[in-house]
Amino acid sequence: MAIDFTFSEEVEQARSRIREFMRDTVKARYKTLSENAQTSESDWRAAIKALREEAKARGFWLPHMPTEAGGMGLGVTALAAVAAEAAKVPYGPYIMNAHAPDEGNMHTLHHFATEYQREKFLQPLLDGQIRSCFSMTEPEVAGSDPTLIQTTAVQDGDEWVINGHKWFTSGARGASFAIVIARTDPDAAIPQARNSAFIVETDTPGFELVRDVETMSGSHNHCEIRYNDVRVPASHLLGERGGGHKLGQVRLGPARLAHCMRWIGEIELALEMLIDRAQKRFAHGSLLSEKQGIQWMMADSAMELYAGKLMVLHAAYKIEQGLDFKQEVSMAKHHVANTLWRVCDRAVQVHGALGYSTDSPLSGMLQQARWARFADGADEVHQMRIAEILMRTYNAEGSVNGAVGGLPL
Ligand SMILES: Cc1cc2nc3c(=O)[nH]c(=O)nc-3n(C[C@H](O)[C@H](O)[C@H](O)COP(=O)(O)OP(=O)(O)OC[C@H]3O[C@@H](n4cnc5c(N)ncnc54)[C@H](O)[C@@H]3O)c2cc1C
Repeated sequence: MAIDFTFSEEVEQARSRIREFMRDTVKARYKTLSENAQTSESDWRAAIKALREEAKARGFWLPHMPTEAGGMGLGVTALAAVAAEAAKVPYGPYIMNAHAPDEGNMHTLHHFATEYQREKFLQPLLDGQIRSCFSMTEPEVAGSDPTLIQTTAVQDGDEWVINGHKWFTSGARGASFAIVIARTDPDAAIPQARNSAFIVETDTPGFELVRDVETMSGSHNHCEIRYNDVRVPASHLLGERGGGHKLGQVRLGPARLAHCMRWIGEIELALEMLIDRAQKRFAHGSLLSEKQGIQWMMADSAMELYAGKLMVLHAAYKIEQGLDFKQEVSMAKHHVANTLWRVCDRAVQVHGALGYSTDSPLSGMLQQARWARFADGADEVHQMRIAEILMRTYNAEGSVNGAVGGLPL
């Protein structure tokens, strides 16, 4: 059995060059801009644009896409390493054109788009000329169960007419198009075949951006949208009719893991901040780092992070090898999201009032970490699926091994 956790020389080089670029260029410029009281919105935009151009010129562009699509052509395991590096720095994934939801939408379009859709929607997305969004969740029904989706798409000649109400469509403001999941076949034999996906340009009449929903961490362009008699040509059906669920699954598997890769970077950052602070802060006769209660926080965080990294790498390996990855991605997503939450919380604790203040990035990181436990599959839904596969495997094989990674152990 070969277990080798080293990447090829080429990947290692790319990874360390990306780490340097993120630290010395992106982070440094971000720091200068945020410390400058005169920085305006247009200065921000110009700086981010310049950084994206620089990343592109250096070949740090589309790490998640194959070379024929203009990407770095990394395997999924190598992508994990690169994505984690990018996530340690504000705007890192965006600068490499690998941010959610565009990254998931690129995968989806690459997999399902027709020639026309590739040219019109995928190519400008790959080039970084436009942004997109993914519009599935609705306020009226549980987002955890897409078979309940109420938005409808009805065929009328050569067009589809879409009516419905969505929210938490991330990145909608400023996006050129949305991939919308709507019910086309209410009477389909199985509930999973009721929905289809459509590409809707955001300037189509009837596309009403109601508001940017305010969250516990402020406004982040998670929008409420009404689709009022929105007409799209038949050529905007993405994938096959009734294939919305399948498309969601193809999109969400790797996209969930891509979130985990970015979260690994954030966990590492929070843990480093925790250690740094503990080694500098003095109370009750010693540094915080010398107190057992604080060392336990460090040790627990390290063990959870290590387990998370192994899970992400193994799930990525399974995707790369074309093996069934559902169970491993569910377990990784649940574990890493919860580790992110716990480690950010511990880091805030060790920083005390500073951690709670917006002077430190930790307060924002903790707020962002909260949604990781229910978006892209709530904890309990992943646990339900994990248990289902566990029981099915045990009943068929008399062993749980195949449902806990299938490792030779
Ligand atoms: C920051 C952020 C960004 C998002 N971006 C997008 C986006 O771009 N596009 C988009 O379409 N959506 C997006 N969403 C929505 C997200 O996908 C949904 O929040 C998620 O699918 C859960 O749906 P819901 O909020 O309706 O919760 P519900 O489905 O109502 O679930 C609420 C809770 O019920 C419990 N629950 C549900 N099912 C079960 C079960 N079977 N067993 C036990 N307990 C259960 C869980 O505790 C769950 O957290 C985003 C959400 C956030 C917070």
